[in-house]
Amino acid sequence: MSDYCLSCHSGLIPEVSWSIFFTKTVPTYLCSSCENQLTLVGGPTCKICDRPLEKLDPQYVIGATCYDCVRWEEDPEWQSALLKNHSIYVYNDFLKEVISQYKFRGDYIIAKAFSENIRKKIKTIDYDILVPIPLSKERQYERGFNQSEGLIVEAGFQPTNFLQRIHSEKQSKKSRHDRIHVQQVFRCIGSDLSDKRILLIDDIYTTGSTLRHAAKLLKEEGAQSVSSLTLARG
Ligand SMILES: [Zn+2]
Ligand SMILES: [Zn+2]
Repeated sequence: MSDYCLSCHSGLIPEVSWSIFFTKTVPTYLCSSCENQLTLVGGPTCKICDRPLEKLDPQYVIGATCYDCVRWEEDPEWQSALLKNHSIYVYNDFLKEVISQYKFRGDYIIAKAFSENIRKKIKTIDYDILVPIPLSKERQYERGFNQSEGLIVEAGFQPTNFLQRIHSEKQSKKSRHDRIHVQQVFRCIGSDLSDKRILLIDDIYTTGSTLRHAAKLLKEEGAQSVSSLTLARG
């Protein structure tokens, strides 16, 4: 519970009702007008990447899969690397601002605003190990924390750092072709992954390329399956 909205900093007035005496209240970290600007991913979504399908041009939807995922799955190198992505919120302007407050301005406490929904979502997924997508050493030093790890910890779970970033994050600005064909993004520093179901955690799913690079490597290292959960779906 916070006295102020973590996003707009207006005072939070606790809602007084008889129900608070009888039900366990969920701590509040965002005011209702900020909370209302968050949109949960809902309706029909791509069965692989969780992208809402309703707003996509029908020509980019094949069955229950988006065209991007069809392309990934048609490529023998990437086929089945990522079993399924789960995302909680639609990446809209409001969330974009909140995420940048969290990771670029170092407002770590923001992770608490999402902890309840992340906790609920993680509980619906079958997995053995939670692995955050890492930052490069330089970036983590600059920022002071890894945003993906923060989301796991604040939701009350234990992260396992099985990955290390080889290239800097700057590669995300390259073209799709370059991103896909860059040699290696991560190295695996975990051991005994055999038969483990890994759940990768990241803040945003944009192209899915980072998550697939991580997933492919973890599968090569013996993981049984790799899924992912992101706070936002771009
Ligand atoms: Zn607010
Ligand atoms: Zn998809």
